[in-house]
Amino acid sequence: MELILYAIPFFFLLIFLEIAYGLARRNNTYRINDSINSISMGSLSRLQGLVILGFSGTVYELIVSEYQLTQLAEDNIWIWIVCFVLYDFAYYWKHRLGHEVALFWGSHVAHHQSEDFNLSTALRQTSIDFHGFLFYLPFFILGFPAEILFTVVSLNLIYQFWVHTEHIPKLGLLEWIFVTPSNHRVHHARNKIYVDRNYGGVFIIWDRLFGSFQEELDNERVVFGLRKPLNSWNPLWANIHVYWRLLQDFIGIPGLINKFKLLVKPPGWRVAGSESSCKLARNNADLTTRFDPKISSFSRNYCLMQFILTVALSLAVLLGAPTLSYGLVNAAVLYLCFSYYVHGAWLEGKLNAQLLEILRLVFLIPYLLLLDLNATLTLLLFANTVIAIPVLLFSGKKQANSLAAS
Ligand SMILES: [Zn+2]
Ligand SMILES: [Zn+2]
Repeated sequence: MELILYAIPFFFLLIFLEIAYGLARRNNTYRINDSINSISMGSLSRLQGLVILGFSGTVYELIVSEYQLTQLAEDNIWIWIVCFVLYDFAYYWKHRLGHEVALFWGSHVAHHQSEDFNLSTALRQTSIDFHGFLFYLPFFILGFPAEILFTVVSLNLIYQFWVHTEHIPKLGLLEWIFVTPSNHRVHHARNKIYVDRNYGGVFIIWDRLFGSFQEELDNERVVFGLRKPLNSWNPLWANIHVYWRLLQDFIGIPGLINKFKLLVKPPGWRVAGSESSCKLARNNADLTTRFDPKISSFSRNYCLMQFILTVALSLAVLLGAPTLSYGLVNAAVLYLCFSYYVHGAWLEGKLNAQLLEILRLVFLIPYLLLLDLNATLTLLLFANTVIAIPVLLFSGKKQANSLAAS
């Protein structure tokens, strides 16, 4: 967690560089709406860690005290290297099960919803990772110190950032050993030939060993996104939409054995003769078009500005959380969830977006008074609220018309 927090400024710097490079090469791979949605998902995934006080820590302690086979040294470089490679092996299976087991796909789907592929896609992560900690348990049994394991987990995730780009071609011999932009493009594709391939985190050798590798083909251009598209900029819905459908299927399917199978079989599995509302089945959608509701340039620019401020507030809450009470952290995270939801509604041109936005700006004032954050940020957010509300109210009719027209 700590390492990832420190990496965030570099993530944003590299995103700006990729945008600049794309614009200079006339091959921009970013859309404002999609990038806002992806970064919202990344932000929420970090924020939920402040709220959910899981029991994983208790499980780790129990495993270490009762089942640990030995205690490995923290200052041995080989322990670090072995842990890094073994964790990547465990990540391969966690990731593969995330695609091949419906219950886990509901969580991992968040990373695959973007129909663009750029560094902001890398930040697009789930807020519902309830099973990931199970893959850490063997490491505690084998005696790897928690500090080594969690550093390795963070390094693995940080490595995966750079492979989310369209600008880097195949990398020769490296394609045989490492996860690269080319073989990870395949992983994010919805072309039939590419679906559910290339699960590796750092090393692609696991895919080559276990038969899940697919090379990016010259004659099959990658089309990014889900085979059953999300078609929404609502980041809260993005986190639960597969679970919502899974719940409906679960209730509807007859028999306890079938209900169990529905959860552990691949997404889209149903009893013979019945249809699924999940992933691959029943899909006649045009997979070559991207979700892109039209809104006015004022709306787009206004939303981008407000989104940047929300990200700044999120970072301030993430950094300041240790000094805040649990109740206040919860309240702040709730407000930020609402903010990201409103940004999504605005990007979709929803008719109630303007009303929600004014409520959001008004609610910010008591939060700013309670949170006692950095003075410059507080002043900036306060000034933004004071200016934005009258702008929205006085230009309300015009904007309502432009939103409705979209
Ligand atoms: Zn995946
Ligand atoms: Zn990815």
